[in-house]
Amino acid sequence: MRGPYAAWPPVFRAMSAICVAALVGCAHLPKPDGAAGPSYRDAAYLDAGAAKSLLVEIDYVEGTSPRPRSIGTLLKQIDLYLDKPGGVEVVLDDLIPRDEWREDPRAIRQIAYRYRSQEAPEGGTVLHILYGPGYRKYRGFAWPRWTMQEDDPDYGAGLMVVLQDRLKPIAWVTGVKQESNVLVHELGHLLGLATNPGHSTKAHCTNAHCLMYDGVDARTFWLYFFPTLFTGYLPLDFCSDCRQDLYGPWAGVPPGQR
Ligand SMILES: [Zn+2]
Ligand SMILES: [Zn+2]
Repeated sequence: MRGPYAAWPPVFRAMSAICVAALVGCAHLPKPDGAAGPSYRDAAYLDAGAAKSLLVEIDYVEGTSPRPRSIGTLLKQIDLYLDKPGGVEVVLDDLIPRDEWREDPRAIRQIAYRYRSQEAPEGGTVLHILYGPGYRKYRGFAWPRWTMQEDDPDYGAGLMVVLQDRLKPIAWVTGVKQESNVLVHELGHLLGLATNPGHSTKAHCTNAHCLMYDGVDARTFWLYFFPTLFTGYLPLDFCSDCRQDLYGPWAGVPPGQR
């Protein structure tokens, strides 16, 4: 890679390539091959195998506490989208001193490596959520498990980052709604969604009503921004194309609706 990265040691160059890819619209991920279905996607992105249970480890920087109702919404959507008969457990884990935060993707990854601590449950896996203040204009982003394990093979989790500075209430669109929207959107990335070129571009779904749609172009302005402003509604669901990607063998029906 040219430019400022050229002087970095190879490990940082590799890492920065991932970071840059990840931050241009969250994460530009290769399309998984092989059979569709949640257990396959889990194996590549969220889980080590077809994990039966899930532990959600939350670490947060001082002053960026998760909103309990948003975590509640995330758990409801996890129940809908993931097959975890062994249960889902949330651990509100470390409080990170504010002065450790740097507005830099490499530094954010380093914090995640430093604070990732909870053991996976028996036969299960871990979803790591890191709350911080801000990075540029992003509300959140995600790194699938396999990209985190390139730098630390023992990391054992997918990572989502939630940036509270960008999740302040706008009119009657509450902070709770925005944070819920980001959590479930990033979960979608960690499941491998928006990688199907049939209805995705730049790692986001092209269906404007979909939670995996990236919210800044003209169509969004009309189809998404105004409904949001006037009704306070933010999508919390994946569109039928995205559901088809995950649950093709089950006619697009997620585990929580079967
Ligand atoms: Zn995204
Ligand atoms: Zn979609």
